[in-house]
Amino acid sequence: MTHERKNFIVRNESFICKNCGHKNLPLQGSCRNHCQKCLFSLHVDLDVPGDRENACGGLMKPVSLEQLSKKGYVIVHRCLECGMEMKNKTADDDDFEKVIELSAKRIKKV
Ligand SMILES: [Zn+2]
Ligand SMILES: [Zn+2]
Repeated sequence: MTHERKNFIVRNESFICKNCGHKNLPLQGSCRNHCQKCLFSLHVDLDVPGDRENACGGLMKPVSLEQLSKKGYVIVHRCLECGMEMKNKTADDDDFEKVIELSAKRIKKV
């Protein structure tokens, strides 16, 4: 099997969060890859966002927040199964309290 696809694959489907059970609806104009309520993600992408080819499938915990000048806020997720880290842009309807919590956590470095 060759692996030549390098395009961003848009997967915009509703999903039930495996961490908190929240039903996430498709996101307009973007691609939802984490729970809007608890910000957890799933380790399903391999090379390309949306490829869903990773067999890991572990829960990805939001560990810190980064601010990029052009893209806005980016959540750093770490897989609880394999430890891999991935960055995901926040969505407009993410629970902002959680996003703030995450940024506070990072500044305090606890
Ligand atoms: Zn959740
Ligand atoms: Zn993983």
